[in-house]
Amino acid sequence: MSAGFLLVLSGPSGSGKGTVSERLMEKNDKIIYSTSVTTRTPRPGEVNGENYFFATIDEFEEMVKKGELLEYAFVHTNYYGTPKKFVFDEIEKGEIVFLEIDVQGALQIKEKYKEAVFIFLLPPTMDELKDRLIKRDTETQEEINTRFKNAFKELDFVGEYDYFVVNETVDQAVADIENIIAAEKLRVKRH
Ligand code: 5GP
Repeated sequence: MSAGFLLVLSGPSGSGKGTVSERLMEKNDKIIYSTSVTTRTPRPGEVNGENYFFATIDEFEEMVKKGELLEYAFVHTNYYGTPKKFVFDEIEKGEIVFLEIDVQGALQIKEKYKEAVFIFLLPPTMDELKDRLIKRDTETQEEINTRFKNAFKELDFVGEYDYFVVNETVDQAVADIENIIAAEKLRVKRH
């Protein structure tokens, strides 16, 4: 088996990150998904320990205090973070660990762990992004506006990433990420 590595995917809310991540995981049982911790309320159908570990603010702050998170950020209106031990245990075993996190979190990882591979997912256009936010119907109008404004801020950081993928269709975006993974497996040295 080749050496394990950390793959970080970010992109604005509405870029299709969730759908692309899901398809990528369905197709590749060798990629290990890192489940994040969040203080957000579960959406209908979301399962604790599967989509997220849902925590109270006190529980989340306790994890931060104990240094249990590799990164964490306040995204939109809630805390989100990546459990550290799980990620490094899996990389140690030679696995490819996949994180779907926001830009603030990705930048923290870049500071601490340069060896990670960073991919930014872009929507085909900003109109398309707004359309997707409205159509998925999981946020209030106010939340949609916050997410749309944040999307513009996040785009400023594309240059910090190793790769960008444009989400014209889910299949093509997943294929692009699979190609990146294939190339990264052959990398001679990591930073
Ligand atoms: P949602 O509430 O739609 O599931 O996620 C909102 C945002 O939080 C998304 O941009 C997602 O990438 C980000 N996110 C999810 N998990 C984490 C995490 O562990 N750390 C950080 N920094 N962001 C996360």
